[in-house]
Amino acid sequence: MLNNPVKTDVLIIGAGPAGAIAAANLHRLGHRVLVLERETFPRFSIGESLLPHCMTYVEEAGMLEAVNAHGFQFKNGAAFRHQDRYTWYDFEEKFSPGPGTTFQVDRAQFDKLLADEAARQGVEIRYKHTITQVNLQGATAQASFTDAEGKPGTVECRFILDASGFGRVLPRLLDLEAPSDFPVRQAVFTHVDDRIAEGEFDRSKILVTVHPEERDIWYWLIPFSDGRCSIGVVATREKIALRKEETLVAQLQRFIAEAPELKHLLRNARFNYMAREIVGYSAKVKTLAGDKFALLGNAGEFLDPVFSSGVTIAMRSASTAAKVLDRQLRGENVDWQTEYEEPLRQGINTFRVFVETWYDGRFQDVIFYPNQTPAVRRMISSVLAGYAWDTANPFVDAPLRRMTALVDFCRQQTP
Ligand SMILES: Cc1cc2nc3c(=O)[nH]c(=O)nc-3n(C[C@H](O)[C@H](O)[C@H](O)COP(=O)(O)OP(=O)(O)OC[C@H]3O[C@@H](n4cnc5c(N)ncnc54)[C@H](O)[C@@H]3O)c2cc1C
Repeated sequence: MLNNPVKTDVLIIGAGPAGAIAAANLHRLGHRVLVLERETFPRFSIGESLLPHCMTYVEEAGMLEAVNAHGFQFKNGAAFRHQDRYTWYDFEEKFSPGPGTTFQVDRAQFDKLLADEAARQGVEIRYKHTITQVNLQGATAQASFTDAEGKPGTVECRFILDASGFGRVLPRLLDLEAPSDFPVRQAVFTHVDDRIAEGEFDRSKILVTVHPEERDIWYWLIPFSDGRCSIGVVATREKIALRKEETLVAQLQRFIAEAPELKHLLRNARFNYMAREIVGYSAKVKTLAGDKFALLGNAGEFLDPVFSSGVTIAMRSASTAAKVLDRQLRGENVDWQTEYEEPLRQGINTFRVFVETWYDGRFQDVIFYPNQTPAVRRMISSVLAGYAWDTANPFVDAPLRRMTALVDFCRQQTP
């Protein structure tokens, strides 16, 4: 490590939603925070459909007014389609207290807004700074970086929060990665000028379409407020490979052509923008925290995009970690396992049950069951709105047991 390190209390790696929220909260609590971010903002990121629960953390970080004022697409629920079956959950009709609406966002704009808000509050963010190495052995933590000109530098700090997303800086450097429980899935996606006629489509909800024959393949359609939609397909790597085409856009269009209702909805769409793919995004770690470090958001665990839980988990992890770290920096003894890792995993595990039973078709049978009682609908709506930590909800308290019982009931009642 080099001489003359930059000194701070907390180094945050990455200025995405987890990094920006953690930085703002710690700064407000009186700690010196430095955020080093590899890119310049705005930069592309996937994850455009937010859940209402994340607005709790946007508000806590003092960013609600800016987010509300930006003009993002209002969102109040999630709609699901499989062949001729169509249903939706209204997030305002939910079991848990808290916000019932949110937004669908172009992440380049949204992430820049959050980072700029953190900077406006006084947080120092240095862009084009890439963390390359860490040393947690001494009394303080040290991290090496290269700056915009490629020059090396060092940060010395009391604690590192890794909010590097799919960069997964500390899991890689500290050998914390563990094999994911999920098969390798792939997403192919783009933005389109959707040109969907008014009244034909509820723009205030994400539309999740299940492939007509292969129920482990699904599509997202996420409308923005400017006439564009984000459209993507998710399938196992093998199933994506079976539909190989010259370009990613052509491959995505081939998938869309297999889902007649979606194809019809997008019949006038213009595929004007670059398509992208992500393979094997699910990630797991041996631990979410250790001596002088904690992992936030995607740098820790990422399950699956199907219920749009990523940004909410990222923000919740940032909020929880900032509170625990504040106490530690003030000299209190804290236990990261019981105060950070275990509580965070409660919600991650709730989502895990929903994701697993989605892909094997069980939760799909619940979603499309037409006679669900309003009470059960509110409990499910709550989890889909991001309230996956409210143990007063039976589907959070005992997710697998409750889900299994509900699946059995719905399947028995369905002719
Ligand atoms: C196909 C797909 C669809 C998804 N859809 C949704 C959705 O609809 N809704 C939702 O909520 N979530 C969704 N997600 C998940 C979502 O993308 C993530 O959960 C979310 O972006 C995590 O935020 P973060 O702050 O942890 O990381 P990020 O937003 O990824 O931010 C990490 C930052 O760290 C920086 N960084 C990386 N390495 C370094 C380094 N070495 N040094 C310095 N900086 C570094 C990066 O440049 C980046 O800016 C989806 C994910 C996938 C794969």
